[in-house]
Amino acid sequence: MRLDTLNQGELREAVARLEAEYAEHQAAGLALDLTRGKPSVPQLELAARLDGILDGNYAASDGTDTRGYGGLDGLPEAKRLGAELLGVAPESVIVGGNSSLTLMYLYLMHAVHHGPGAGGGPWREVSGGVRFLCPVPGYDRHFAACGDFGIEMIPVPLTGKGPDMDRVEALIAEDRGVRGIWCVPKYSNPTGETYSDETVRRIAALGQSAPAGFQVMWDNAYAVHELGTPEPLLDIMPLARELGTADSVVLFGSTSKITFAGAGLAFVAGAEATLESLRARLALVTIGPDKVNQLRHARLLRDREGIREHMAKHRNLLAPKFACVQHRLAERLTDLEETRWTEPRGGYFVNFDAAPGLAREVVRLAGEAGVKLTPAGAAFPYGRDPEDRNIRLAPSYPGLEDVDRAMQVFVTCVLLASARRKLAG
Ligand code: PLP
Repeated sequence: MRLDTLNQGELREAVARLEAEYAEHQAAGLALDLTRGKPSVPQLELAARLDGILDGNYAASDGTDTRGYGGLDGLPEAKRLGAELLGVAPESVIVGGNSSLTLMYLYLMHAVHHGPGAGGGPWREVSGGVRFLCPVPGYDRHFAACGDFGIEMIPVPLTGKGPDMDRVEALIAEDRGVRGIWCVPKYSNPTGETYSDETVRRIAALGQSAPAGFQVMWDNAYAVHELGTPEPLLDIMPLARELGTADSVVLFGSTSKITFAGAGLAFVAGAEATLESLRARLALVTIGPDKVNQLRHARLLRDREGIREHMAKHRNLLAPKFACVQHRLAERLTDLEETRWTEPRGGYFVNFDAAPGLAREVVRLAGEAGVKLTPAGAAFPYGRDPEDRNIRLAPSYPGLEDVDRAMQVFVTCVLLASARRKLAG
């Protein structure tokens, strides 16, 4: 639908029609939710075999009785799974708990208080404070963790092939307080983009020019989460090793969106100095992780082929929902001025940009019609979208019919907010 070709009278009619449509949605008493990228119940069911898979056999490949204490690094077979997801050698992986976010938070806390293994000292002693580069739009929980440690966040635009690397390199050159960058390199949350080979190479090289202790926080949460033809991502660790920057890259991942979101495995990987310094902290937090869970995951997922087969089942459940989102958006918004959205080939989100200044209003309208959306601005540091246009759509959790209904409401809200704005001049 185009609005810029309509005269005032036609615009008034369009607003009236859209208000009637909106009132119909409101009258339906909906309670739908497109806020968070959670696996649906049928997706969780795909891993139901985890329960009972051990069948009384608790021995790991190295003979460990997984019910006991110890094994801080993780079982060999669980480390191999993490290595597969993160593109590193198994000896570069620690398997820790069920949430990669916990590991990221712990890692930041460790760097702030003790300094990363890469050197440079504790971040809390950096005069003038520490800053992080935050590609935007990005993952709100990364930004919340930085906020919690008083790390100042500097937004850097994403380009569709990863962060604007000219800007990243310039910021690092001009500001010696920069100590890190957040990266979700594959099917990024929320833009769905995968970093290009050139971007990965330039990120791997940052440690050469950045201050000591600079850390690339490489959160590969969507490493195997394909919706269509896979988009390849270069493995950063081998590149960093070649460039002599391995200490500057810390990788994170988990099976939260592979098996059970709340009872999966989380992984952190890095160079030996990184792992050594992190082990010192982990040893204070736990006598050992849940190795029973590690073993049952290794038995369920097995290896690269096992992960691929399992993820194909997720794709069968998710792809129709993402197709539905695309269909509903394209159906009525294709020609709408200054409005655009992504068509991701993997991950959990569709990133939507309304015309500048409309995101809050669209989210408000949708909420009042019973469709909960992620708050506008959430994908930006400090919750501030400078253009107030970005909205993250997360269609994974509701059933297909609910996604379809929610998207119809969403599209009405975008059209109504746009038409009202146009009419008001
Ligand atoms: N990292 C990203 C980019 C995410 O989108 C999410 C969840 O949505 C997570 C991490 C959470 O991971 P975990 O469940 O392993 O803590």
